[in-house]
Amino acid sequence: MRILVVEDEKPLADALTEILKQNHYYVDAVYHGSQGLEYARSGIYDLILLDIMLPGIDGLSILKTLRKEHITTPVIILTAKSEVSDIITGLDAGSDDYLAKPFSTGELLARIRALSRRNAAYNEEVLSCGNLSFNKSTMELCCGSDSLKLGLKESQLMELLLNNAGRIMPKNLLIEKIWGLDSDAEYNNIEVYISFLRQKLAFLGAGTQIRTIRGVGYQLEGRNND
Ligand code: CA
Repeated sequence: MRILVVEDEKPLADALTEILKQNHYYVDAVYHGSQGLEYARSGIYDLILLDIMLPGIDGLSILKTLRKEHITTPVIILTAKSEVSDIITGLDAGSDDYLAKPFSTGELLARIRALSRRNAAYNEEVLSCGNLSFNKSTMELCCGSDSLKLGLKESQLMELLLNNAGRIMPKNLLIEKIWGLDSDAEYNNIEVYISFLRQKLAFLGAGTQIRTIRGVGYQLEGRNND
């Protein structure tokens, strides 16, 4: 696994590099924003640790640019504890996690392991939750002996919900991941697709349900119907 560290505080960048190497990761560290963007764009990294305050281009702009270019490498934002707004903006801009400085080595390594596990799930062909399963290549949703083929947007939405089963997925995050950051997809657009999926889940008799979390988004809840 190859990790890119973008951090302008050289002692911190070097310490991170050292720790990660000791834990058998391949590491590249850069200290400047524009260099960070250039390296990240190469697409060779499995994970990026990204500081926010950087010379040249700031971390959030780097992140937005990457996501706009459909570079989906998991990103952990590194930020000072006081900058809570940065964390929210970072998550909105497409970061997968954040670490507030100062953080412990143990915490850093745990977050990296968690993200790489989550990423491994992205590579699975068949996703499941409760008695429901979904085949990503055939776009077939199955429950028991019944199955239905989903449309493209329904498939993307189902896949996101299944990859994050049990977690509350904010509406704007789902919209950005499916329709892109620049999209002007209206909120009611996603509601239409959610309702299509709910009809299909009901048709299949699946115990798995999509819950609406009022004012926030949706959560996939798995049950086995028994
Ligand atoms: Ca900095």
